[in-house]
Amino acid sequence: MPVNTPVRCRAVRLEAPGRKLVDATLDAPAPGSGEVLVRVRAAGICHSDAHYRAGIGSTRHPLTLGHEVAGVVESVGRGVASHRAGDRVCLHYLVTCGACRDCRAGREQFCATGRMIGKDRDGGYADFISVPVGNAHPLPASVPFEQGAILMCSSATALHALRKARVGAGDTVAVFGIGGLGTSAIQLARALGAAEVYAVDVNPAKLALAKRHHAVPVDARAADPVEAIRAATGGRGVDAALELIGFARTMEQALEVLAPQGRAALAGLTQERMSIAPYRDVLNREAEIIGVSDHLASEIGELMRFIGRGELDLSDAVTRVVPLEAAAINGALDDLEAFRDDVRTVIRP
Ligand SMILES: [Zn+2]
Ligand SMILES: [Zn+2]
Repeated sequence: MPVNTPVRCRAVRLEAPGRKLVDATLDAPAPGSGEVLVRVRAAGICHSDAHYRAGIGSTRHPLTLGHEVAGVVESVGRGVASHRAGDRVCLHYLVTCGACRDCRAGREQFCATGRMIGKDRDGGYADFISVPVGNAHPLPASVPFEQGAILMCSSATALHALRKARVGAGDTVAVFGIGGLGTSAIQLARALGAAEVYAVDVNPAKLALAKRHHAVPVDARAADPVEAIRAATGGRGVDAALELIGFARTMEQALEVLAPQGRAALAGLTQERMSIAPYRDVLNREAEIIGVSDHLASEIGELMRFIGRGELDLSDAVTRVVPLEAAAINGALDDLEAFRDDVRTVIRP
């Protein structure tokens, strides 16, 4: 153990579901065998965290929240040769067994013993976090920690959605919802070779952002977005549509706007039921409806290459930085719950 091994560590924790987060001082985690101890330099505050604070989804308490984490390796546990102190890393949030049928088949997000950091095990609203070495991916020096943190949730899931929808060269793509996922999705669709990307939203600022990233803005308040996109594509529709909001109506629109053999990838969370006209929307066009759940560790390296080439630019994505203090973090979560979420907040310990 290096002599400078930290012994105490600040953390902002959820003591019980439905309560506000509180400041805590804990023993610093020690890296176990095959683990790395990471000094957190940035942790994203995600809408999911507001759900976990409310007790929806989080599985154990007390719990340190935070699943979007970037930092620097502080020390390594026994058997770790690939990383060393000082390495810049960002953390894949799913800790999986690597041995079960789903893990071996490359769909590790369905690992039955998988645990998510900041939800099922302590996360990154802290000075330090210890994770299996396989979860610590190299973060290029050109990518600020704040961006490295938010890459690990919204950008990674946006890429997974595009991969599930098999977006490739020459495709036309519609993206419903230009929030954290959507901003990445419109850029990554281009990077994957999409010929044209239509960005559907109702918020003028988000539509302007989409235009800055070379998507065609479609204002869903001004016109029916399905009709608008059909008109723009000569009646054909799009090869792929991503629903990133979580409304039944926009999921239906993502299906209705498809061209023959089009793919609708649904990533927004909702308890609503959607309605489908099977002949018109699915059979007659050989359309596909595809579910999107999380993302894969293998997609993180790919994401780093897109950002390294400048094809994914998150420089305008982080709009607020707060300290590692419960009051500031609770305030940011309150804003998310109230859908005052034009801002993306990152904690800098
Ligand atoms: Zn997240
Ligand atoms: Zn597994």
